[in-house]
Amino acid sequence: MSSKKLNVFLQSNLQELKEKGLYNVIDPLESANGAIIKINGRALINLSSNNYLGLATDAKLKNAASEAIEKFGVGAGAVRTINGTLQLHLLLEEKLAKFKNTEAAIAYQSGFNCNMAAISAVMDKNDAILSDELNHASIIDGCRLSKAKIIRYNHSDMNDLHAKAKEATESGQFNKVMVITDGVFSMDGDIAKLPEIVEIAEKFDLITYVDDAHGSGVLGKGAGTVKHFNLSDKVDFQIGTLSKAIGVVGGYVAGKQELIDWLKVRSRPFLFSTSLTPADVAASIKALDILMESSELNERLWKNADYLKKGLAALGFDIGESETPITPCIIGDEVKTQKFSQRLNEEGVYAKSIVFPTVPKGTGRVRNMPTAAHTKEMLDQALSIYEKVGKEMALI
Ligand SMILES: *Cc1c(COP(=O)(O)O)cnc(C)c1O
Repeated sequence: MSSKKLNVFLQSNLQELKEKGLYNVIDPLESANGAIIKINGRALINLSSNNYLGLATDAKLKNAASEAIEKFGVGAGAVRTINGTLQLHLLLEEKLAKFKNTEAAIAYQSGFNCNMAAISAVMDKNDAILSDELNHASIIDGCRLSKAKIIRYNHSDMNDLHAKAKEATESGQFNKVMVITDGVFSMDGDIAKLPEIVEIAEKFDLITYVDDAHGSGVLGKGAGTVKHFNLSDKVDFQIGTLSKAIGVVGGYVAGKQELIDWLKVRSRPFLFSTSLTPADVAASIKALDILMESSELNERLWKNADYLKKGLAALGFDIGESETPITPCIIGDEVKTQKFSQRLNEEGVYAKSIVFPTVPKGTGRVRNMPTAAHTKEMLDQALSIYEKVGKEMALI
């Protein structure tokens, strides 16, 4: 028999969410997560995946994964530190270091898990972390897990960061102080001000931590936000995921050899959670090879993003201040935003609405994620559907 307290908790909270229209219903896909997806038997132009380069369905990656399964099986069989490290894992880490232009790298099972692992391996209750207020949930949770004092600074506000860095370091209260930021902020598509952040970090001897989940494969001709600003030797932790532009699953830290050596003996998900599967590792290696050999997919991504942005802006939509392919279409009112997304869906475009509390009240938006796999015809069709629904709802 289950706990009465649990039943009351679940029923009252679920009911509240449903009444407020905040209960998220998940639409399962009946196809791969490519440029066109199938949901409920209908084909939709997909503008909601993080599959920036279309690699999730790439034939070369699929072949690499199949071969790895034939040779090594479907599971790694153990945690990395017992005997769940295949030579393939080490090869992936070598490639990641090369990709990020660092001495070494360590792979984890996801980007989320990587932030749980890396922050708390280095920071503790005697330390402080300066954290951008719009940082990703996994950064926030990783910071909390470390028990360090969390000091939030206003989004990309370098005066605020400077003042708080000065106060934290001069107070004598803390042993180490870290500054932590997303490389690209996923809701608005703006880029962290890394040159200024690095300058402040050098002045106050801060540890620098950049989570580039949305920048890797996208900025710096694919190498990421840190490379985009030519700061590869000035950022201590470069975090990335293998699940967005790389198209597979996993996360990693790239940095100095000693940092990686330490993470391999102290980060808990590395020690206590089974390692990435052979197929994930082989497919990720293939993706990195493709990215390092040619910038073709990256160029196609930017071309498509540029085309979609210009098209939406020309129709009269507010597309915000994005500096990356992330293309918000800001509607404002929450109910209207959800209605807009639903109408787009009925007409053939899958673009999810994002509303409070994920973004501030009154800034509800439909977020578009163009990819290298979209054709011009798909984007034109999406734009004409945007025009139709926008006019129908008197948004343009
Ligand atoms: C998506 C994202 C993650 C999580 O990555 P997964 O590999 O999907 O777990 C972590 N950090 C940031 C900044 C992200 O955008």
